[in-house]
Amino acid sequence: MTTVSSRWTGTGVAPGTAVAASWRVDRPIQLGAGPLDPNRVEQAFRDVAGDLNRVANRARAQGRRAVADIVAVGAVIATDPGLVDAAWRAATGDDPLHGIHDAVEEYARMLESLPDEMLRERAADVRQVGRRVIERLARTGSATPTLRRFVLVAEDLGPADLLEHLGQGLAGAVTVRGGANSHAAIVARSVGLPLVVGVDPEVLDLPDSTSLLVDADAGAVVADPPYAEVARADEATARDGQRRGVLATDRGRLHVTADGQPFGLLCNVASDTEVRVGRESGAEGIGLLRTELPFLHADRWPTDADHRRALRPILADTAGWPVTIRLLDFANDKVPPFLKDQPAGLKALLDNRDALAAQLRAILDAGRGVDVRIMVPMVTTAADLRAVRAAVSELGAPAIPVGAMVETVAAVTAIDELCTVADFFSIGTNDLTAQVLDLDRTDPRARPELTAHPYVLDLIARVVTGARLAHRPVSVCGDAGAHPTTLPLLLGAGVRHFSVACARIDETRYRLLRLDTAACAGIFAEALAMRDAEETATLVRQRIGVTVP
Ligand code: PEP
Ligand code: MG
Repeated sequence: MTTVSSRWTGTGVAPGTAVAASWRVDRPIQLGAGPLDPNRVEQAFRDVAGDLNRVANRARAQGRRAVADIVAVGAVIATDPGLVDAAWRAATGDDPLHGIHDAVEEYARMLESLPDEMLRERAADVRQVGRRVIERLARTGSATPTLRRFVLVAEDLGPADLLEHLGQGLAGAVTVRGGANSHAAIVARSVGLPLVVGVDPEVLDLPDSTSLLVDADAGAVVADPPYAEVARADEATARDGQRRGVLATDRGRLHVTADGQPFGLLCNVASDTEVRVGRESGAEGIGLLRTELPFLHADRWPTDADHRRALRPILADTAGWPVTIRLLDFANDKVPPFLKDQPAGLKALLDNRDALAAQLRAILDAGRGVDVRIMVPMVTTAADLRAVRAAVSELGAPAIPVGAMVETVAAVTAIDELCTVADFFSIGTNDLTAQVLDLDRTDPRARPELTAHPYVLDLIARVVTGARLAHRPVSVCGDAGAHPTTLPLLLGAGVRHFSVACARIDETRYRLLRLDTAACAGIFAEALAMRDAEETATLVRQRIGVTVP
């Protein structure tokens, strides 16, 4: 008999592939009517708090401190008297479980309506706690699947849902809701579980134990996948594991190219989990801390308290590291609702001096004792940089280095004047390439390898030369720094410092250790005469012999 596969697309927010049996973790509970001893409600909340604390403690004992803290938030919520009281009162009615469900939902909605972003985010945690309490009271939910290896399927997932099944057969997860910044996504990335979110709700109707392929790299979910596809996914997973092992063996080696030129390798982060991975992978610091990501759904400028809350966990483990904190970059595909229909980007921040001052105050405060540098995104003129510098000085911190991202053509053109104001530069190849080639950042054609286009390379060379003449350090923090075609070209252009996604550090180091800067410079000179990125890529492939395992 042949089985017909069903396919869905979604967004892979934690990389990897897995094939395992599906298990719907939040299958709707039959909320049967019937009286319930309200005292059991309080006990159920206490039990859920105990469960979550146990999961958090286990994570802490395994050295997963940040993850443990996230789960512990659920335990605190389960002891929140406001929530427990509301549920207790609801449970005295005729239909207690429905009542509790509605009371929890009302509480979650109340949180969602609050102006504080962090409190709003807790609504999902409240719903997770409510689900667990009802499961306990209804005694229907099977807290542990009987499957040897399984993929969790759910409307939405809390971090504890992943952690409590870790090491017990959990191979991946699929959800209808959630995003790259959800706590579940952060946990999944941190523990290396593939997670695809934004999948059609149809997936929720799959019977448990359906064979499910999760390919987070391709953003695909396939039920009853054909044998050949399963075999390919299994091979890819095995190869990836081996490859990672080999790449990691270079950690600790001196950072010099094949011809002895020193290079710097830093990481791009937006969470404490990434800081941990960066440290483990031997990054030398943070070359780009993206501060806007927690606020992309905000309906007002973040306050200094909002910024401090977001920054503290990230900066907690950065002792001895240089940390380049980029100011809010609400540009292009990162414009929050409150800036829709208004000028966004750097102009918005510079026009709202209170918002700028709030972020700077939070950086100075949360960054006490940290080797902090401030980086300004989307700079177009030296005046942009002067404005930020003045704001930093007004807060009594004139010695903090202030640098510019070079990611607009205007900034490249103004490079000599920018050198008179900037302490350092970082080339944002993602935006620069998109602008030069007139592509939207969300356009699937906007890929890192397009930085190999000679127009873009020419601009990069101008920045490197200008900065070198003025003795200003220059790095690249766009994704071209971690791409096999563009990395040799950037090295050939004279770039010696690269800041890349944490998951790409080992691979980038592997390449840099084996590249020859003189050979790269020769290829770069030839590339400037090519017609397009494809022709340049072919040239690089023909001439660069580094193959990654
Ligand atoms: C870039 O544009 O290259 C960059 C690093 O900034 P972001 O991707 O955050 O816009
Ligand atoms: Mg950018």
